[in-house]
Amino acid sequence: MRASDRAPILLARDPRPHRYVRTPPRVAVEYQELFRLVDKPGRYLGNERGAVRKDPSAVRVRFALAFPEVYEIAQSHLGLQILYDLLNRRADVYCERVYAPWLDMEAELRRHGLRLASLETFTPLDRFHIVGFSLQYELTYTNILAMLDLGGIPLLASERDARHPLVIAGGPCAFNSEPIAPFLDAVVLGDGEDAVLDVADAYRDWDRRDRAELLARLATIDGVYVPAHFTPEYHSDGRLAAIVPRDPARPTVRKRIVADLNRVPLLGRQLVPTMDIVHDRVALEVMRGCVKGCRFCQAGYIYRPLRERDPQPLLAHTEKLLKESGYDAVSLLSLTTGDYSCINPLLAELMTKLAPQRIAVSLPSTRVDALDDHLLTEIKRVRKTGFTLAPEAGTQRLRDVIQKEYREDELIQAAELIFGLGWRSLKLYFMLGLPTETEEDLRGLVALTHGVSAAGGHRHPVTASVSTFVPKPHTPFQWAPQITVAETEARQSLLRRELKRRRLGFKWHDARLSYLEGVFSRGDRRLAAVLLTAFRLGCRFDGWSDQCRWDLWQRAFADNDVDPDWYHRRRVLDEVLPWDHLDSGVAKSYLQRELAVAFARTLTPDCSIERCTYCGACDFTSVRNVTFHPHGAKGSVSHGGTVDPWARAAMPADTAWPTRNWTRLVDGGRRSVDARTAEPSSALSHRHRAPSK
Ligand code: SF4
Repeated sequence: MRASDRAPILLARDPRPHRYVRTPPRVAVEYQELFRLVDKPGRYLGNERGAVRKDPSAVRVRFALAFPEVYEIAQSHLGLQILYDLLNRRADVYCERVYAPWLDMEAELRRHGLRLASLETFTPLDRFHIVGFSLQYELTYTNILAMLDLGGIPLLASERDARHPLVIAGGPCAFNSEPIAPFLDAVVLGDGEDAVLDVADAYRDWDRRDRAELLARLATIDGVYVPAHFTPEYHSDGRLAAIVPRDPARPTVRKRIVADLNRVPLLGRQLVPTMDIVHDRVALEVMRGCVKGCRFCQAGYIYRPLRERDPQPLLAHTEKLLKESGYDAVSLLSLTTGDYSCINPLLAELMTKLAPQRIAVSLPSTRVDALDDHLLTEIKRVRKTGFTLAPEAGTQRLRDVIQKEYREDELIQAAELIFGLGWRSLKLYFMLGLPTETEEDLRGLVALTHGVSAAGGHRHPVTASVSTFVPKPHTPFQWAPQITVAETEARQSLLRRELKRRRLGFKWHDARLSYLEGVFSRGDRRLAAVLLTAFRLGCRFDGWSDQCRWDLWQRAFADNDVDPDWYHRRRVLDEVLPWDHLDSGVAKSYLQRELAVAFARTLTPDCSIERCTYCGACDFTSVRNVTFHPHGAKGSVSHGGTVDPWARAAMPADTAWPTRNWTRLVDGGRRSVDARTAEPSSALSHRHRAPSK
């Protein structure tokens, strides 16, 4: 294990204490003028409790965290708050925020000749040293161009020189950032906590003369991809022939990973917005990564392995943030919080403390088969409005294909429990257009929704919320075709008719948005020209159904002679993919194997409770699954962390720990053992085998 894997993230980087300035922000008069001209001026005021005030002249690096969405969405994003907090702990860095201005604000900025400015000090974007964009969704790309343009920064990285800010980006879309690569100087792959600090260090130590030298320095940082150092080459039929690295010794860029999440300090201060935002509550990340292996889920592959936080500091910290912020709700976040191994004791302890204050705890992402009566009984102690479950597919056959482990009777039981405990409505998330989907699967979706409604005696509203499957890079379905807009609308109309007949609710996703998302999700660098044209034609907020200008997008594709359908085609297995040089840690051969077993309807075991299937994400030295459950909590040994004494204490020894479906395990010697009594043994340890790429 390297020393850096153990040390707290900020240790030895800048030992001076950070200094905050207590004065409120001085809004420049010219910006103040605009507030009365736009809708929701609170989006631009930046005077929230918890916002960091520093003296900009006392720092060496000024960092703008940029989120290409409106304030209400941007401010709800926990990742942004984590980086904001982490960067501002350093005395030599001042990190501020800048969000996408709504259309009215953009028009006013342009009319008044003003630049897009930060929320904290109203500093124009081009006066920052580093601007870091969050890439969460492909349909925010035109907003990124609008923000750069409004901020006075040349759009193309090749047009910037030493006077301009360094423009970087990170987030899930970074794992195929090719369509937007020409606009970015560097891209952070994977966990950002260490990488942004390294980027800030590199900028601080740069002599501000030769930009190419800065890029060369960035390219040596683990997890940092410099697009200008890679050149795509194409076959005459349009397919990629190769992505040629400038340095043949570095043909790929491997993602950055925080091996132990407990090294990342918990959020030091909670930003409390002065207007309603989408997720208005304290949020804590309880774990990162997911090894359930749902074959459509990009996050489940790019954030491997599973890394849990120690529950004990989480408990104390939740109380601190609630007290400081005055919030009456807390959300425990992860890709699948019901699978956090200490969820039962943590929730029990939290609710005992918080329920008397009427503070609600929510687990926004919980799989159907992770729900049990312990969990639900605790959650319902404070609030019971609506509940959401994600069955994803309507038939067992299709659920096997996509690796959703729950059975129909488990969903019905969960619904009975949910309604029985007093929830009054239920929303079910599904996808349509999944590989191998047939009409039977869609009719199964309707039948399943009807069954769930019956579990509540048809007394409560039940809604099927159906999005369209978009194949994502770095997943086993990255080679699958995406269905057309016409096919999507045909399937949606079948569902609309059948659900309505049974008096069930139906929500659907705009087929055109999924189509565009699919183009850019698996797109290549040639799409940058389309983005530029679309931006110039006026495309903004393309992820908003009422804002997306389909007509302008059609023009942008036509003007650049790009056939968007081509990006939806099925890819052959030996094709060079635009993201092949961006290494998520999971081997391509593993994804191909998963694709093969998907069609055989074979489930792959969860490696945090059964055995390793050698995806490539762990090196088993510094990087591996880290769990904190007491022995038997999830039916397996704790691979990474130690058994936490607090978690043991929270659940008395004679209490049967809910193991849900995992009552039997297969150990390394292929013996079936009882999960609740099995002792940790070498038989259950991993057999190490290097994955082939
Ligand atoms: S390498 Fe093995 S243990 Fe690690 S995430 Fe992949 S399958 Fe799980």
